[in-house]
Amino acid sequence: DKQMKKIEDKRDKNRTFKKDSSFLKVEENVFDVPTLKLLYTLSNKGYITEMGGSISTGKEANVFYAKGNEGEVAVKIYRLASGTFKSMDPYILKDPRFTNIRHSRKDIVFAWTKKESQNLIRAKKAGIRVPRPIVNDRNVLVMEFLGKDGNPLPILKDFALDDNEALPVYRQIIEYMRRLYVRAHLVHADLSEYNILIDPHQDETEENKSENEKFSAKDEKNTTGLIPEPIIIDVGQAVTLDHPNAREFLSRDIENIRRFFKKYGISEDSKTILEKIKQK
Ligand code: ADP
Ligand code: MN
Repeated sequence: DKQMKKIEDKRDKNRTFKKDSSFLKVEENVFDVPTLKLLYTLSNKGYITEMGGSISTGKEANVFYAKGNEGEVAVKIYRLASGTFKSMDPYILKDPRFTNIRHSRKDIVFAWTKKESQNLIRAKKAGIRVPRPIVNDRNVLVMEFLGKDGNPLPILKDFALDDNEALPVYRQIIEYMRRLYVRAHLVHADLSEYNILIDPHQDETEENKSENEKFSAKDEKNTTGLIPEPIIIDVGQAVTLDHPNAREFLSRDIENIRRFFKKYGISEDSKTILEKIKQK
């Protein structure tokens, strides 16, 4: 009986995935059959039990909200059929970790997805806050969802930092760049206000909230007393330090961060920042 129930549950889950998923109807034309099959496989394994809506449609990948056995997840799906994968070439073809891949478009995408997952692990080990990868298979990466109840955390670009918050957030980003460089031996290579999420630390319990409201109702944005915290995402293109363009990519990352924080009155020169990043 128990066994029966289990099978029934499982079947219901799959049915839910197939039937209720507007995902399939809407995105039918975006994803090829192998990608849909792969999503079913991941669904059967419990990594994805319910596919939610689209979070983002990028140049090369789509990110979806989903639920899985481990809770809320983000599903990043690299498109096999369309996009500009030529733009991936300079990052992956010279990466010594991926010298043996065949250079068909599909192989580059699969290697890219795997590289993103590996880079996330390396970054996490280096003490950088990044989403935890859960599983990667071919062109699909399932990772920890950053947000709550289906609402993703905002990107840095869309988050209004208070004057007193900008400096600590800036410093944390530079510190993460340092850890990425010195400990993980990686350069992000696409770092900007678009690939940094902000955790505003508003996820307190109801009890805490009411306690806090009593004492600091004036401060609506941040009642925890904690400063917002940056989270680094989109590390697919991150390269190792021995990549021939690593230096150039690092300079570009530094300029992006410098430019963004200028409007908060923060202006360190590039050389100082570079020295900080290389500081062991
Ligand atoms: P792209 O290569 O298309 O830029 P990203 O990895 O930057 O892909 O993801 C695109 C967007 O999806 C991000 O800007 C962010 O808003 C959202 N996103 C990505 N990963 C997550 C995640 N783990 N949790 C919540 N939102 C995410
Ligand atoms: Mn991005």
